[in-house]
Order: sequence, then C-alpha cells, then structure tokens
Amino acid sequence: MRIGVLGGGQLGRMLALAGYPLGLSFRIFDPSEEACAGQVAPLFVGRYRAEEVGRFAEGLDLVTYEFENVPVEAVRSLPLPVFPPARALEVAQDRLLEKEFFRGLGVPTPPFHPVDGPEDLQEGLLRVGLPALLKTRRGGYDGKGQALVRTLEEAQGALEALGGKGLLLEGFVPFDREVSLLAVRGRGGEVAFYPLVENRHQGGILRLSLAPAAGASPKLQKKAEGYAQRALEALDYVGVLALEFFQVGEELLFNEMAPRVHNSGHWTIEGAETSQFENHLRALLGLPLGSTALRGYSAMVNLIGFRPDFAQILSVKGAHLHWYGKEVRPGRKVGHVTLVAPDEARREEGLRALGLV
Ligand code: AMP
Repeated sequence: MRIGVLGGGQLGRMLALAGYPLGLSFRIFDPSEEACAGQVAPLFVGRYRAEEVGRFAEGLDLVTYEFENVPVEAVRSLPLPVFPPARALEVAQDRLLEKEFFRGLGVPTPPFHPVDGPEDLQEGLLRVGLPALLKTRRGGYDGKGQALVRTLEEAQGALEALGGKGLLLEGFVPFDREVSLLAVRGRGGEVAFYPLVENRHQGGILRLSLAPAAGASPKLQKKAEGYAQRALEALDYVGVLALEFFQVGEELLFNEMAPRVHNSGHWTIEGAETSQFENHLRALLGLPLGSTALRGYSAMVNLIGFRPDFAQILSVKGAHLHWYGKEVRPGRKVGHVTLVAPDEARREEGLRALGLV
C-alpha cells in the first residue's frame, strides 16, 4: 500500500515511521524541500493547489494529511480515498463552523459570537461578557491570531489588529485545566479512545502532556468519549481525531478539534500499547484497531527552540528522545521527550531529573 501524506512535518515523519513495520510505503507532500518527513520518505515539493496535489497522488492508494490548512477543494478533487474525510478538514479550518458544529451535537462550548465588524463586537461583548478572546476564524494555531481582551477599548483595538472581520469572540473560561481526548474510528465504524490527557501550554504552545490526566474520573472519561463519538459519527470519520477541552469541575467545554494525529498523543508511541500513528494507519487501511491501553504513567515534553543534551536526557530512566531533524529556531517544535514510569510519583521524579519543565 502506498500512502500519501499531505504535510511533511514531524507528524508526517512519525506516521511514516509507524507505517514501515506494517509494510506500507509513503510519499510526502510539502511546500518546503526542508520538510523533516522528507528525511524518512520520498518528498514531493509543491504548492497546495489541486493540480499539484493531483500529480502528487498519482500512483498512490490513499491519501491522509497531517496539516490542517490543506485547501479542502484540493482534497475533494482527488480521485482516490482521502481520510479523514474532507468535511472534517472543512469544519476544523473555521473556528466558527467548528464551534457551531459541536454545539449542534449538544457538546458544551464556551459562549461565542461571530464578529465581522464593530456592531457584532458590541453585540458579542453583551452576549459573552469580559474578559473574552477575539480569535481569527481561520488560520490561527498555537495561540496565534487571537487576543485576550479585558475592556471595550482593548476589544476595539484587537478588532482592528486582527483585520476587522472573519473573527470570533469567545468568553474567557477560567478553566481548572486543559485536557484532550484522542479518538480513532476505523472504516467499519469501530472506535477506540485513549485516556484523557492533561496539557499545559506556555506562550500558546503545548509544553507538557500528562497521560493519564491525574484524577480524571471514569465519568469524565465517558463524557469525553460520548462527545467524541457524536463527532466521529456525524462526520463519518476515519482515522485519529483529537479533541481539546477546558475542564471546569466535572464539566468539559469543547475548545477545538484536530482531524489528524496530534501533539498531545505523542506519548502513545511508548506509553500505549498501540501508538496514535499506528492506529491512524490501521483505521485508514480498514485493519483492526490496536489496544489503547496504557503501559504506565507518561509525560511528554516538547523541545521548543533548543537542542538539549541528548546524553543527559537518555540517562533518565524511562525517557525516550524524539529529534525531528529540523533546524533549531526560536519557538519551533524540534523534538519531544516521552517519559514512561510505573506510577505518578516516579513520573514526577523523572520529570525533575529531565529538568526540561
Ligand atoms: P486555541 O488556539 O483556540 O486552542 O487557543 C490557544 C490557547 O489559548 C488554549 O489552549 C487556551 O490555553 C487559551 N484559550 C483559548 N480560548 C480560551 C477561552 N475561551 N478561555 C480561556 N482560555 C482560552
């Protein structure tokens, strides 16, 4: 089976690495010839246009993507199976569509209001209150394209700074913590879920994931799985889907989804019986899904903008290093470390020994 992956970052790289034991081969599409997945699979350099994506797909058996801003039309025009379905991509690309979609499924979200000008902003502020976040509907990631506003003046300033339209105003949620759920659905409709993960961000970028999320009750897990199940079915989804939530007490408010393998699932490579990457591929191929059971208590630390001392990291018991082969630049995810420990106390101890967070 020849699999095409749209997007040649670390996610594409780890997908290919997970697919080789299954006898799969890969071709990677990326606009940059430096794309790090190109170090482990043949790279097709092109722009995200229907014609170029079409040429890339010639001779492949199926296509998936690891990059969310692939133009939906380019995906829809492909004459071969593409998973996850284009509709999922379309929903994920627009924060308004995404929030409306989940609200339509009966999943709680923060209060939100579309903003295309000063009047909408006024109305939105009345509806969601202050503080609030003004976000661009499209193209934002890792906390980019959004502003926290505490006053009317700040909101007006942010409206201008973010382009005046195509925005979403969202009530600020004083959450206890952020959690994510990784779900996977196969071609026959079977589903599997990983345990809830706790995620800590810094400067809008994921820094640390803890799996399982400490103290997450079976009831909370079931709640998250129920929400995910609704989305998976409504989208006739195939592959891994990541859902991010704000946890407030025993409530989960939907924040966003990623129709792909996700940074908060990297720990599954060593920390679960089947990694998110392998399960994504199994789902696409119509193979049985693998067990999502834990192999211990995991922590995943992103390496952002620096190259650590590899020997020091590898001297920590249970630590695994993933270096993506990218050029180190400020704010760039260049690798991660996963720590798997037999209990929470030793996970804490290991994290201290790593000295990365
Ligand atoms: P996003 O790109 O929408 O996931 O936002 C990036 C980060 O900003 C989230 O992970 C949160 O830490 C924070 N954030 C986003 N929306 C809200 C909100 N409505 N209330 C509180 N914090 C938020």
